[in-house]
Amino acid sequence: LSPVPSDIEISRSQTPKAIDQLAQEIGLLPEELEAYGRTKAKVRLSLLDRLKEQPDGKYVLVAGITPTPLGEGKSTVTIGLVQALSAHLKLNSVACLRQPSQGPTFGVKGGAAGGGYAQVIPMEEFNLHLTGDIHAITAANNLVAAAIDARILHESTQSDKALYNRLVPSVNGMRRFSPIQLARLHRLGISKSDPGALTPEEAKTFVRLDLDPEKVTWQRVIDTNDRFLRKITVGQANTEKGHSRQTQFDIAVASEIMAILALSDGLADMKQRLGRMVVGSSRSGQPVTADDLGVTGALAVLMKDAIKPTLMQTLEGTPVFVHAGPFANIAHGNSSVLADKLALKLVGEDGYVVTEAGFGADIGMEKFFNIKCRASGLKPNVVVLVATVRALKMHGGGPNVSAGAPLPKEYIMENLKLVADGCSNLKKQIQIAHLFGVPVVVALNVFQTDTQAEIDLVCRIAEKTGATAAVPCHHWSRGGRGSVDLAHAVKEAARQKNNFQFLYDLQMPIHEKIRTIAQKVYGAEDIDLSPEAQAKIEYYTQQGYNTLPICMAKTHLSLSHMPEKKGVPTGFVLPIRDVRASIGAGFIYPLVGSMSTMPGLPTRPCFYDIDLDPVTEEITGLF
Ligand code: ADP
Repeated sequence: LSPVPSDIEISRSQTPKAIDQLAQEIGLLPEELEAYGRTKAKVRLSLLDRLKEQPDGKYVLVAGITPTPLGEGKSTVTIGLVQALSAHLKLNSVACLRQPSQGPTFGVKGGAAGGGYAQVIPMEEFNLHLTGDIHAITAANNLVAAAIDARILHESTQSDKALYNRLVPSVNGMRRFSPIQLARLHRLGISKSDPGALTPEEAKTFVRLDLDPEKVTWQRVIDTNDRFLRKITVGQANTEKGHSRQTQFDIAVASEIMAILALSDGLADMKQRLGRMVVGSSRSGQPVTADDLGVTGALAVLMKDAIKPTLMQTLEGTPVFVHAGPFANIAHGNSSVLADKLALKLVGEDGYVVTEAGFGADIGMEKFFNIKCRASGLKPNVVVLVATVRALKMHGGGPNVSAGAPLPKEYIMENLKLVADGCSNLKKQIQIAHLFGVPVVVALNVFQTDTQAEIDLVCRIAEKTGATAAVPCHHWSRGGRGSVDLAHAVKEAARQKNNFQFLYDLQMPIHEKIRTIAQKVYGAEDIDLSPEAQAKIEYYTQQGYNTLPICMAKTHLSLSHMPEKKGVPTGFVLPIRDVRASIGAGFIYPLVGSMSTMPGLPTRPCFYDIDLDPVTEEITGLF
């Protein structure tokens, strides 16, 4: 329709098909489905086993130019592309998307179900609660936090003997170590399985984690932008007297457990990763893990359903897997390995899986390749790089815009000079994708204000830079039909020879891996490690964590560490303030500048517009 109706009107105008019907259409067996109401269902991992002999489909990553406040539309391109592939080219295809956090939904950004005629429906289900995975992560994360503080308290108030008696209780006159305790003894180098045989010294080592309250790195989480939880004091009741300490809440999607969910390739792998999570260190400087706390089994129980991807659908009734949504700042910002693997088997050799990476290609795509593909062993066939004329104009020197304010004329009228200058950012992002040896198709997400000359200019520059194709896309105003050219271009690019390679070797020293990303991807002259960062690198190397990949925590608003520098900044040295580690998820994350792990609410948050009609139960304002 023209003009294009509002996102919510479009979403409402389509009745989603029953989820068991969609499941049947894509070849799922009834016993592989766990329905959550009429329009969403979890998919059992047994599917992977059933289809293990099936060759994988083509694997397509959607990434973008450096984001601007004008929005690029990666999600809409992802959805438009699968709608075109499935409904118009009649090729099996699945979109794999991240589950949005409630923080941005009620805060600044709004929902993440796409928009126009390229949406996931029902969008209210997609944007809130879904099948409870984020709640499960919150519960698991906070169980670890409770276990840490309780353990510190108990160790400080009880003798070695009393601790031993409580941790290894006598049942029917017999004392036995639990499997997780045997594993801890093994890690401590105590090769005894009879609880009566430990010397007092060994028993002491076994029962005392001796966590240093100052060195606890595990935080509590909640899925709300609640800035007043950025720094809190716990343990202020009389019953915990003398044990109060300062700590903080992070947004739930910043929990390491979310990153683990996204990177695990099955229940056993997830359980091992959960057990390896380092929560702090002992007074003698030894890492203390979830396994040491004895909490791993309980975490796995809390997460057993979250590990199954959720099946939903696009506006055109094609399948979408929604699974995991790790914070793209301090984690890798990509949806789950498991959803991608299931989807690749389901679509079969001639089919397509389109998955989306958060932020610009320098961040989301780099982490997709170096972290996610390393964890999964999967090789991508094509990168779709999303750009918009208006965002390129901002990279070319167009004025800043603030949310809600009217757009300056530069973004509404033709301005070829700004577009041409801003294409520097697009060129750089294409070159970054080429570092990994993967063909690039540029998807120019067309807005109604773009002129033909501007569209042609972007496509010409992209193709000259080596993109296999550059295609204007009209999915927002026309649905899958508007992305048919993109679908053909992706199909063509997927046939090309692919020389996929990682950017760095895991055996390189940590600081060399960081330098490689800074220089080759961001275009930095060099890196500058603070003394703290240097010390942490030495510590992690000593602990044997030096072969993990790197997950840079850097602003997404610039290729550099300076958010205001658009286009392609040059001549800068990247400052590394600190280096941290997510051992369970399996990466080291250097902090470039300060990263907030708990967003705040603005003066007028999105929740002002969200409402429920109590008679019809219709929801408004969730975009
Ligand atoms: P991203 O994934 O890059 O954050 P989205 O795909 O979620 O961006 O789109 C952000 C917002 O911009 C959505 O509300 C969407 O409806 C809107 N949008 C995207 N593409 C267009 C377009 N071509 N014309 C108008 N609005 C668009």
